Amino acid sequence: SIPLSFFAGIGGASREGVLVKGSNVLETLSKVRTVVFDKTGTMTQGVFEVNAFHDHNDMDIEYSKTRLLEYAAIVESSSSHPIGKSLLRAYGHNVDHSRMSNLREIGGLGVTAVIDGKTVAAGNEKLMKSIGVTPCHCHTAGTIVHIAIDGEYSGHIVLGDVVKPTSAEAVADLRKSGVAQTVMLTGDTHAVAVQTAEKLGIDKVYSDLLPADKVARLETILKVSEGDGKVAFVGDGINDAPVLSRADLGIAMGAMGSDAAIEAADVVLMDDDPMKIGKAIRISRRCLRIVW
Ligand code: ADP
Ligand code: MG
Repeated sequence: SIPLSFFAGIGGASREGVLVKGSNVLETLSKVRTVVFDKTGTMTQGVFEVNAFHDHNDMDIEYSKTRLLEYAAIVESSSSHPIGKSLLRAYGHNVDHSRMSNLREIGGLGVTAVIDGKTVAAGNEKLMKSIGVTPCHCHTAGTIVHIAIDGEYSGHIVLGDVVKPTSAEAVADLRKSGVAQTVMLTGDTHAVAVQTAEKLGIDKVYSDLLPADKVARLETILKVSEGDGKVAFVGDGINDAPVLSRADLGIAMGAMGSDAAIEAADVVLMDDDPMKIGKAIRISRRCLRIVW
């Protein structure tokens, strides 16, 4: 039977906006020693601002900046990724879906579609390389969306993602609560990843990861930390579901997060506030001390 104090623990957590899916989850929470974070939408707001446009099609004014953003917005119009939503917002017009066909969204890379009979690709360097396009070597800080039209490099849009106001405090709070190690796994570039991790005081950072690489990296972390407490993974995205289920404890962002992530998680933070991780750990410890 389940001790009564577990119900109190789950109830207490839910009043804090933390959904705990069962009594065994509460026990795992109390033993967390390593917390692994996703970046976009988890530690950052996942609301990008378009900072700059660069048009590399000097020979052809047909692909003007407006055209670049228009194509980027159309190709991203069905995406639930924060990058796609931001580009659509920056474009600011309704998208005529009938202009688009053959849509493909490739996790950790970007999107491709046929627009007005032209093949448009929008995404990172990996996506460009996969279609045989050499992107510019941009010396910019920020997440870069490269755009290729009909197999030719057309330019890029630089996006700036900001950290959540409580992210740094949340990492410090976890350390005070006995979390020995914090790690960040991201599909974003090395420069952005290192800058974000430093800003937040996260111990280790791994960048340029595809969804499958995140699972592999988490498995290594699990192996290394064997016998030294539990490993939690905190994420928000569609691509995060496999890592959330592989971790000892999966924590999902509930407000902006994807349904798949919420489904795969053991704990859901209803308001996406990373401060709630430390709170949940402390609630679980208090409740388990009573049981013991
Ligand atoms: P994170 O690990 O930071 O949450 P993701 O794994 O969701 O990031 O995405 C990794 C990278 O893949 C992004 O930084 C971006 O370069 C690229 N990407 C993913 N989805 C899209 C998209 N819809 N449009 C453009 N680029 C994308
Ligand atoms: Mg994410």
